[in-house]
Amino acid sequence: MEIAQTIAEFKSWRKRNLGSVGFVPTMGYLHEGHLILVRQAREENSKVSVSIFVNPTQFGPSEDFKAYPRDTERDLALLEKEQVDVVLIPSAEDMYPQGYNTWVEVEKTTERLEGSHRPGHFKGVATVVAKLFNIVEPTKAYFGQKDAQQALVIKKMVADLNMNLEVIVVPTVRESDGLAMSSRNIYLNPQERQAATVLHKALNQAQQLLQKGEKDAELIRQVMTSIITKEPLAAIDYVSIADAQTLEELSQIDRPAIASLAVRIGKTRLIDNTLLT
Ligand code: AMP
Repeated sequence: MEIAQTIAEFKSWRKRNLGSVGFVPTMGYLHEGHLILVRQAREENSKVSVSIFVNPTQFGPSEDFKAYPRDTERDLALLEKEQVDVVLIPSAEDMYPQGYNTWVEVEKTTERLEGSHRPGHFKGVATVVAKLFNIVEPTKAYFGQKDAQQALVIKKMVADLNMNLEVIVVPTVRESDGLAMSSRNIYLNPQERQAATVLHKALNQAQQLLQKGEKDAELIRQVMTSIITKEPLAAIDYVSIADAQTLEELSQIDRPAIASLAVRIGKTRLIDNTLLT
């Protein structure tokens, strides 16, 4: 496995590897959710590349950029086991040198949900992913359904800017009690970890109500809200039942829909979602 610590080193690897390249962008502190993306990339491409970069431009001033968990040594050992060919670990200075001035803004889908609670977040995400795509030149890039809105934003950017790659979205990997795997789960103390299962419970309930024939989106939002409100350690950022493509809030579930949640458990902000079928 090659480790490229600069963009130039990565480009030199790419010149020597001209076949299909799968790419998994990450912020590191890897878990099974990341590794499932790597495994799918391994199956579908002749080479697999992964980036580890905690992107400062997607964090708000009061968010956890500094505290975000990092363990590069452990990450590299995990990636080596998955037979990854190359890992890009650029510095912030290499990605955003002095005088950096270019940004990618995807409109509409970014105005809702995460976008409305984290101003500037998707501008940072779209910009860094566009830069990484230009550096890596992947054949296919892999994203998790866990960050459903991010996946939609990246797909839209790729379509709108005629980027020459395929975006693949991979189902969410969960702990045995349903909690979606996340690097941020490490922040939770044992009581909070227990309380965090409330997100999955609320999403499950939404799915079950729909399966029983309930189409009233507001009623389902209310049921989800009351499940979360009963958990004393949880505070809601948003509870959404939206069109699965545009993320517009629905009043009736009369088309493909997604239930999504952002909930604070103590100081930790968790998100999760499920496609309603
Ligand atoms: P992150 O390191 O959190 O930026 O995540 C890197 C990629 O892994 C993103 O495409 C995430 O959506 C994906 N990912 C994170 N957690 C999970 C999970 N539990 N299941 C599937 N994919 C995930």
